[in-house]
Amino acid sequence: MILVVGGAGYIGSHLVKELVEKEEVIVLDNLSTGHLKAVDTRAIFVQGDLGNEEDLQMIFSSYPIKAVMHFAAFSLVGESVVDPLKYYENNVAATLTLLKVMMKNKVKNFIFSSTAATYGIPNVEIIDEQTVTSPINPYGHSKLMIEQMLADFSKAYGLNYVVLRYFNAAGAHESSKIGESHDPETHLIPIILQQLLGQREKVSVFGSDYDTPDGTCIRDYIHVTDLASAHILALEALLSEKKNAEVYNLGNGLGYSVKEVIETCERVTGVNANVEMADRRAGDPARLVASSQKIYSELGWKAERNLEQIIGDAWKWHKKQQY
Ligand code: UDP
Repeated sequence: MILVVGGAGYIGSHLVKELVEKEEVIVLDNLSTGHLKAVDTRAIFVQGDLGNEEDLQMIFSSYPIKAVMHFAAFSLVGESVVDPLKYYENNVAATLTLLKVMMKNKVKNFIFSSTAATYGIPNVEIIDEQTVTSPINPYGHSKLMIEQMLADFSKAYGLNYVVLRYFNAAGAHESSKIGESHDPETHLIPIILQQLLGQREKVSVFGSDYDTPDGTCIRDYIHVTDLASAHILALEALLSEKKNAEVYNLGNGLGYSVKEVIETCERVTGVNANVEMADRRAGDPARLVASSQKIYSELGWKAERNLEQIIGDAWKWHKKQQY
């Protein structure tokens, strides 16, 4: 059985939907930002907190857990700058509790959701796993601290782990049964689509004077279903002892500017956006684009879905959003 912590969240719920086809799954989520409706009904659901030793011990005592996949983190760069305590408490301290209880119960396989924010402002066009990690905000720091803990636990206690550094997760499940739903929403693609649906007045472009061809920030958007399939491959590689103590980037390898994303949304949906230029947002690097060559050559994974498909699936979901 696999324990998915944060399995009611955006990325966790998409992973659970794929994983239940292969494994027995138990989801632990405190529903602080996740949605019970997003959890596939074939998974066991426990409402609880990863920072609570009793909740965790109850699960490890009651179920034969062979691996833990950890998605339960706060992930807003701007918020982390204003409220770092929240990020160090949940993303670092609570994860440490999870690892402690795992070690106590001799559960030694761990898949960790990390982020491109660990790279800070990279000095290369395309970021690979050798690129220096130098976060520029508490969110990135909190994720890198856990990566360091995993490396140390691996050496000292025999923990087996894979770290997956996501670039910009987007899109929705092709069934439109689950998708992205944050409150408040801060991510670019859902904000554009909400504007196109008349749910918000305008889209603000945060900065048009960056050192990029059109002056707006460039990101690497990756379909959430592609992220889910990378997790399944990483889990299989870990459980079959093919891979351990590895870090992989997960991206498309293609960068799109904010303006290009808006234009693609307009093209895919056939609706024009109401756009305004606005000031830069604190903590945004100009360009984050991944090389995912390592996971392709080692596990055979690559992103299958392009920006049009990401936006098309997100559009279907937003039109009928159910939670
Ligand atoms: N962005 C924007 N307007 C918005 C939301 C986001 O211009 O209303 C920009 C943001 O500054 C960044 C890119 O879109 O350059 C992607 O932002 P998002 O919050 O989706 O993801 P992040 O890169 O912060 O993880």
